Amino acid sequence: MWTYEIGLRTRFRGLTRRQGMVWRGPAGWAEWSPFLDYAGAEIVPWLRAARESADAGWPAPVRDSVPVNCTVPAVGPETAAEIVRRSGCGTAKVKVAEAGQSLADDLDRVAAVRAALGPAGRVRVDANGGWDVDTALGALTRLARHGLEYAEQPCASVEELADLRRRLARGGVDVPVAADESIRRAEDPLRVVRLSAADIAVVKVQPLGGVRACLELAERIGLPVVVSSALETSIGIRAGVALAAALPDLPYACGLNTVALLDDDLVGEPLIARDGRLPVAELRVDEAALNRCAADPAARALWQARLVQTERLAG
Ligand SMILES: [Mg+2]
Repeated sequence: MWTYEIGLRTRFRGLTRRQGMVWRGPAGWAEWSPFLDYAGAEIVPWLRAARESADAGWPAPVRDSVPVNCTVPAVGPETAAEIVRRSGCGTAKVKVAEAGQSLADDLDRVAAVRAALGPAGRVRVDANGGWDVDTALGALTRLARHGLEYAEQPCASVEELADLRRRLARGGVDVPVAADESIRRAEDPLRVVRLSAADIAVVKVQPLGGVRACLELAERIGLPVVVSSALETSIGIRAGVALAAALPDLPYACGLNTVALLDDDLVGEPLIARDGRLPVAELRVDEAALNRCAADPAARALWQARLVQTERLAG
């Protein structure tokens, strides 16, 4: 078992460092990296996902590469455009509604991304539940001028998402709503469907308990899904690639290009997009990288204790 700590190139989700554990089982490498502000029963599915990777492996792929988006954090417009151009991706996910920033910042960032991608590119935004319904309606009405593929979790609650969807439709604003936190942090992910709160569901392997669990959920939800990451190293991303590779339909680029946000990785050839795609291929985990990225003893002890506690909960 290895505990890693890797820096983030840009502050993301309030984080500047990423930590987690990786280990190798009979079926392959697994990553277990629940965010440090998650605890208790909520991180049990993350362990189930890791056990699947290590012990069972994944269903057979139906494609040999998957399209991915680049991720643009809440940076200024010049940096945003540079991230897009360097990525080579035809789809960009842009963070909006960042605390301490204004709608003008979001408009400038999205405009710069649209200009960098050109008219054929796809631009999606992610508010991480940061807007109330009125603010979301106002912001998306203005952002829609740049052509949005969808808006991810514009508001926090399922009720708000449903209300926003109705008001967007009434106002003739053509921006589909995607649910992310309302799927992966909800007691009942299917409420999104019952309340007609989303057009698209974002699914993530670790928080939802593994590749098979996500495939089953996708079937039950009956909405198009977007496979995304939980900011893992290439080891965790590989499980997301397995999910994207096994889905019968994959209409959207996946949010799996996030290794590009880390300043190091645990494999010889990091899963960073080339020409906007990730390969469905074996990983070469690099012992030197495992040593280079090893967390300090205090972090190792913390993760070990967290794992023991979660194993007890998981049974
Ligand atoms: Mg999201």
